[in-house]
Amino acid sequence: MIDFSLTKEQTDLKERARHFAQEYMLPYAHYYDKTGEFPRPIIQKCWDEGLMNLGIPKDYGGPGLGAVEQCIVVEEMAAGCAGMTTSIYVNSLGAEPILVAGDEAQKEKYLRPLTEELKFISFACSEPGMGSDVAGIKTQVEKKNGHYVLNGSKFWITNAPYADYFTVFASLDPSQRHKALCAFIVDADSPGLKTGRPVEKMGHRASSTSSVILRDVKVPEENILGGEGMGFLIAMSTFAMTRPAIGAFATGLARAAMEYAREYVNKREAFTKKLREFEAIQFKLAEMYMKIEASRLLYLRAAWEADTSGDSTVPASVAKAFATDAAMWTASEALQIHGGYGYIDQYPLEKIFRDAKLYQIYEGTSEIQRLILARHVLDGYDPAMETLPKWVNMEPPDF
Ligand SMILES: Cc1cc2nc3c(=O)[nH]c(=O)nc-3n(C[C@H](O)[C@H](O)[C@H](O)COP(=O)(O)OP(=O)(O)OC[C@H]3O[C@@H](n4cnc5c(N)ncnc54)[C@H](O)[C@@H]3O)c2cc1C
Repeated sequence: MIDFSLTKEQTDLKERARHFAQEYMLPYAHYYDKTGEFPRPIIQKCWDEGLMNLGIPKDYGGPGLGAVEQCIVVEEMAAGCAGMTTSIYVNSLGAEPILVAGDEAQKEKYLRPLTEELKFISFACSEPGMGSDVAGIKTQVEKKNGHYVLNGSKFWITNAPYADYFTVFASLDPSQRHKALCAFIVDADSPGLKTGRPVEKMGHRASSTSSVILRDVKVPEENILGGEGMGFLIAMSTFAMTRPAIGAFATGLARAAMEYAREYVNKREAFTKKLREFEAIQFKLAEMYMKIEASRLLYLRAAWEADTSGDSTVPASVAKAFATDAAMWTASEALQIHGGYGYIDQYPLEKIFRDAKLYQIYEGTSEIQRLILARHVLDGYDPAMETLPKWVNMEPPDF
């Protein structure tokens, strides 16, 4: 039987997240977007409310919730402020490599503290010269006197200046590409590790993004995740678990855009009629609703797969690619419905439009999701029609 309903616990969690988004995020979203300040008070409140680090297992002090529950929370929060939600959710991205490949001691040492007080863990994979091509990582790691030593630079690392820990990806030999990648847990106060000034961004301005410079950073041997050469697999497994949430982010943002548009068409008049009376406007709202409903089903399906099967790569790419394109379209059309008011900062649509764009870029661009899906259709997909009959057939059936 297929059941599309949420459990009582999931419904309660959704209500808590919705309340948090409306009470503590939305009223301050404009302020943090304008100033670009790091919204620490909001994130602290989120932590206090128990709405952060949701995937950390109970054994390490967390609530041990699955991808489905995390996505439900993320949809609500992204409807409040996309940038704040990115900074909140990045702890889950940063911690995921430890959940995927960490041993008991690593989990105890690095996951438990995240549940005891507000601490930040960032995911440091991308570099100035690469983002999509994870196997092309240039940050180098060498083993020396019982330590690993890291040298290189990371770029676009969310929350980097505030991070207590990083999960860092580096290569033993860049010419060996994915075979030589390793993943490490690195303490932010390690000598030789520096973070750059936050970069000015188009959207998600409430989330902080900067470089991380690694100069002869010594990492204890026991901080490697899963062993040498496991980095690529760990990165891909991490994305398979976290990409459904990007679908949920996009769904939340699109839902907010549609709701603002819905409110506006009920008030604004043109040609002596309310905008809601024009069929061209109604069709835009209908299209938004269809896309949002489909996005939600897709991210829930992907999250369910992440929780139940070992590999959610394909449904996660479907959800991420579809929902993020849907959000960009919805944000654009909702802005259009607001006319000139959509373009100025006295209404939320111009921020929503700027925020929407990032979803098509981070955690694997829309093109990378399509590459994954094209490979699946060509090489991984199990066709329903095993032997295709000859198409041109002039004989009627004789059964
Ligand atoms: C605000 C922000 C926050 C971020 N946070 C983090 C973070 O916390 N941690 C982290 O590690 N990274 C982070 N990133 C980096 C992000 O994941 C990368 O920007 C993203 O993966 C794309 O990489 P790139 O920018 O190097 O683009 P490139 O890989 O250079 O791609 C450029 C363009 O070419 C396309 N392209 C590339 N290869 C192909 C191909 N084979 N076929 C077709 N098209 C292709 C891409 O889709 C894209 O359109 C963040 C980025 C931003 C902007």
